[in-house]
Amino acid sequence: MKENTSDLMQKIVSLCKRRGYIFPACEIYGGFANAYSYGPYGTELKNNIKKLWWKKFVQEREDMVGMDGPILLHPKLWEASGHLSGFNDVMVDCRECKKRFRADNMITEITGKDLEGDLEGMNKILVAEKIKCPNCGKSNWTEVRYLNMMFKTEMNGIDEPVYLRPETAGAIFADFKNVVDSMRVKIPFGIAQIGKAFRNEIVAGNFIFRLREFEQMEIEYFISPDEKWQKLFDSWLEQQQEFVFALGAKKKDIKLREHSKEKLSHYSRKTVDIEYNFPFGWSELYGLAHRGDFDLTQHAKFSGQDLNYTDSENKKYIPHVLEPTFGVDRSVLVALCAAYEEEKLDGDDIRVVMHLPKAIAPIKVAIFPLMKNKPELVKKAKEIFDLLKLDFMCEFDDNGNVGKRYRRQDEIGTPYCVTVDFDSLEDKAVTVRDRDTMKQERMKIEELGEYFKKNIN
Ligand code: ATP
Repeated sequence: MKENTSDLMQKIVSLCKRRGYIFPACEIYGGFANAYSYGPYGTELKNNIKKLWWKKFVQEREDMVGMDGPILLHPKLWEASGHLSGFNDVMVDCRECKKRFRADNMITEITGKDLEGDLEGMNKILVAEKIKCPNCGKSNWTEVRYLNMMFKTEMNGIDEPVYLRPETAGAIFADFKNVVDSMRVKIPFGIAQIGKAFRNEIVAGNFIFRLREFEQMEIEYFISPDEKWQKLFDSWLEQQQEFVFALGAKKKDIKLREHSKEKLSHYSRKTVDIEYNFPFGWSELYGLAHRGDFDLTQHAKFSGQDLNYTDSENKKYIPHVLEPTFGVDRSVLVALCAAYEEEKLDGDDIRVVMHLPKAIAPIKVAIFPLMKNKPELVKKAKEIFDLLKLDFMCEFDDNGNVGKRYRRQDEIGTPYCVTVDFDSLEDKAVTVRDRDTMKQERMKIEELGEYFKKNIN
């Protein structure tokens, strides 16, 4: 039984809070700016997703290296990248209730028309179609205007404003030359980075879909200007989709949306968004863009440095770049949405279960003594926990009856539960219960490690 409504979103949000995945930030102060904290299980899930990404895109490839640059970068970098002048969203305020909206998104949602970048068109349609404020229902709007989305701050010893990076890519371009000079990289090659990014979004919302402080996993893949880029572009698109499948997503919930020629940035040859069918509708999950030589050319110009690459035939050129970009928080949200299921059991009983792929599940094995007040069972279960925890994220649970513990672990998405009973003390075996099939199997304690290694990683 699977739902696809905002009701489903509410259920996921409430499970996340109830089960220690994700909490509204600063709740004791009444919450703050639609921000969220990752709780113990959410942190595990998020870390596992980042680990999986790093393994697929850095560890397992010979043409990729990783780096980790600062959040506060030289202000000139944002001038060069065009963010200072052009990283804007369009906003409009309701004069009646004072609520602020992202004008383009609101107009698309209400009219189905996409007026991206056309401020005059937006002003006209707000009046002509008497678009009502989604908050108060009146139609009395301010002019639509741009808002720069970068967070400004100050730094000791620096006279001009400093910005929190709105994307991680900047540091990759700034260190392109250092990577080329210090590593034995040959074009085509890529640099990957995971880290926080900050955007002063006009409206944050849809749980962790649109945050003002979020994480990105980005790649800049440098190619020669003569490279037949189309094949590489398709291959990155394929790999980005493979990654969505690894989060547990189904093919039917993913679609590609290519940006039309008119809406492409002047430097981009092709840009494709990978969209996911979230409970609140199809929305951008990841993006892939051919950015030409725009970034390195700009940074060379603004820094006065030579950012040319010299190939094995001594030919010098500014590389072109393909940019596959992935949002960490949107990946977490996909994993949660794809995993959530309310399963009908016998009678009216319903089991809520998170079918998270085992590689990203926060807890891999939960270990229970059948009864809490039997020291010999607790001791044996603790022994097994101490052994398995060396290789897997495990949890020891002796709260309530075994049925309740199964339900709790199902909601956490734990693939296996191990129960130690009185027979275990004699036959050195335990009951292993599978989250998805609910099948229970008797297994020798000494075989558990191998079994989980084979089935989890
Ligand atoms: P949107 O159109 O949804 O605002 P975008 O096109 O501005 O997104 P990019 O600049 O391409 O997004 O950023 C790369 C990725 O970073 C996105 O595909 C998304 O996964 C993630 N991302 C961007 N903005 C946010 C945000 N406010 N909160 C969470 N993740 C975000």
